[in-house]
Amino acid sequence: MDATLDVIVIGGGPAGLTAAIYLGRLHRACLVLDAGRSRARWIPESNNCPGFPQGISGDALLARLREQAGSFGAKFEAATVASLDRDADGGFSVASDDGRRWRARAVMLATGLADRLPELEGVEDAVACGALRLCPVCDAYEASDSAIGIHGPWEAVASHARFLRGYTARLSLLPTDVAGDAADLDGIDARILPAGGQLRFDGERCGYAIDGDTHWFDTVYPFLGCSTSAALARQAGVALTDTGEIPVDGHQQAGGIPGLYAIGDVVSGLNQISVAVGQAAIAALHAHGRLPFVPRRG
Ligand SMILES: Cc1cc2nc3c(=O)[nH]c(=O)nc-3n(C[C@H](O)[C@H](O)[C@H](O)COP(=O)(O)OP(=O)(O)OC[C@H]3O[C@@H](n4cnc5c(N)ncnc54)[C@H](O)[C@@H]3O)c2cc1C
Repeated sequence: MDATLDVIVIGGGPAGLTAAIYLGRLHRACLVLDAGRSRARWIPESNNCPGFPQGISGDALLARLREQAGSFGAKFEAATVASLDRDADGGFSVASDDGRRWRARAVMLATGLADRLPELEGVEDAVACGALRLCPVCDAYEASDSAIGIHGPWEAVASHARFLRGYTARLSLLPTDVAGDAADLDGIDARILPAGGQLRFDGERCGYAIDGDTHWFDTVYPFLGCSTSAALARQAGVALTDTGEIPVDGHQQAGGIPGLYAIGDVVSGLNQISVAVGQAAIAALHAHGRLPFVPRRG
């Protein structure tokens, strides 16, 4: 086991890497443990990331953030964290699934979430070319006025209809369970296709096959839910909310446990890079204030 670190950041996506930039610049010893599956890797080009008017891919953004954090002294290890425990002295013990162990005075959970994707051959290619999009706030602008399908349980597709109707008049709802009716759509006009069809991808577009017909779209947004690794927080003693989320205070401290923070998609309702970045800054500054004061040597 290493000597005690100031902060271990679990997760090397935009949230974790931003926290590492701040902590490095606060002269804190910070280690980022990352399993390497950031949601941002799926972003072909982000056009709402502040400061990149020409857009930036998720991979390029992650590389820049990592380089920036490294330049201020943050260290990195590829690791999947399997356990997180509180120690008697108020610190934390962290262990990876291959048996490595670390100790830190504070921990930041920046483990993000995993989208439930449709069972679709070539699903990664479909996301890469924009035939399948996962986040309307992120990229519905790019799909403006195109033929858009919304796929998922009726409740989910109906609740996203208003937002996406603001981007196109060519909107179709592709329910997985039951097809509700227009009365559920609060005055929004959209085509409702029969429920229970199958999504397809032809290399350029996604289609919805039902009753012997395939309806093709420029873009399909699936809303099939997601999972988070809130289990690590629970292990450390956080009482999750009724809906399984990590409760945080105004400093991003999780479950009222001093020194434990949760930032980014793992905690946020608005899953956006700018939100993850802001939460990381708030958490890093608060953690710095709690850690032992270290005067600079003359
Ligand atoms: C297709 C797509 C397009 C998007 N476009 C945009 C956009 O244009 N603009 C925008 O603002 N947002 C966009 N988003 C959302 C954005 O990607 C997320 O909001 C952002 O990545 C969240 O950052 P995060 O650091 O919280 O989580 P992530 O980026 O998901 O990073 C979490 C990291 O934690 C790691 N991890 C998880 N569990 C463990 C563990 N037990 N041990 C170690 N490491 C672990 C993961 O491997 C991952 O590397 C998009 C998302 C998708 C899927």
